[in-house]
Amino acid sequence: MLATRSLVRALALLVILGPLPAGGQAAAQAATKLDLVSARSALENSSLPSSVKAQVQARIDASSENFLRYLSGALADRGSDPLLLLRVGKARPLPESFEPNDLVSLDGSGLSLSRPGLSLRRAAFLALKEMSAAARAEGVTLLVSSSYRSYSYQVEVFNRGVATDGLAETEASVARPGHSQHQLGTAVDFGSITDAFAQTKASRWLAANSRRFGFSLSFPKGMTAVTGYKWESWHYRYIGKAAAALEGEYFGGVQEYVLAFIEGM
Ligand SMILES: [Zn+2]
Repeated sequence: MLATRSLVRALALLVILGPLPAGGQAAAQAATKLDLVSARSALENSSLPSSVKAQVQARIDASSENFLRYLSGALADRGSDPLLLLRVGKARPLPESFEPNDLVSLDGSGLSLSRPGLSLRRAAFLALKEMSAAARAEGVTLLVSSSYRSYSYQVEVFNRGVATDGLAETEASVARPGHSQHQLGTAVDFGSITDAFAQTKASRWLAANSRRFGFSLSFPKGMTAVTGYKWESWHYRYIGKAAAALEGEYFGGVQEYVLAFIEGM
């Protein structure tokens, strides 16, 4: 019995570790080369500043195997969900009628919620649950304050902002209807939704750990010229683990850069 089990295990190992046939190995090498060539040209043709392009290319050259692994993961994610890595912003609106078809209510999920009635797309919801549990295990509570927002709800949010703070101030911090990542159903606002959030334990935990769960800070500090928005320490978007790893390790932690690059792939 024991011998049989060892044999099965050895055979399984052979299947896993078995060498590729000579032709297959050459083909795999050729594919890798091709991927690196297309990545280089996508980077070159992207809208990223040239100094950023040079930094990203240097990081790719220094660690191309990991890069290709993350890239193929991100492209596979996009293949199964084209909205996951879609750029949505000031110049890139969603149709007024767009509404995700797999929204899940956060009520009764065990997540910490600032109010009832919040929802997210299924993949983002599952990742958020996993992330919240990991934070809780380290004594950190991630309070979810805003999640999916419909086009019509964003109209209310924007108009309320204009009434309170005026148009210019609102434009810098609130998306116009149709231009919000919240309409995608994969963005989450945590805590107080104010700059004070940056001083909290939750904010520090998210900054250090969110990418492991596929979440990315959408509007980082000092990047207003790139993102169109002021720093929002509380606003994260789920982009999947592979794209989040690319963002963190190759694109300087800037979501806009990694999404712009992937768009050209
Ligand atoms: Zn937000």
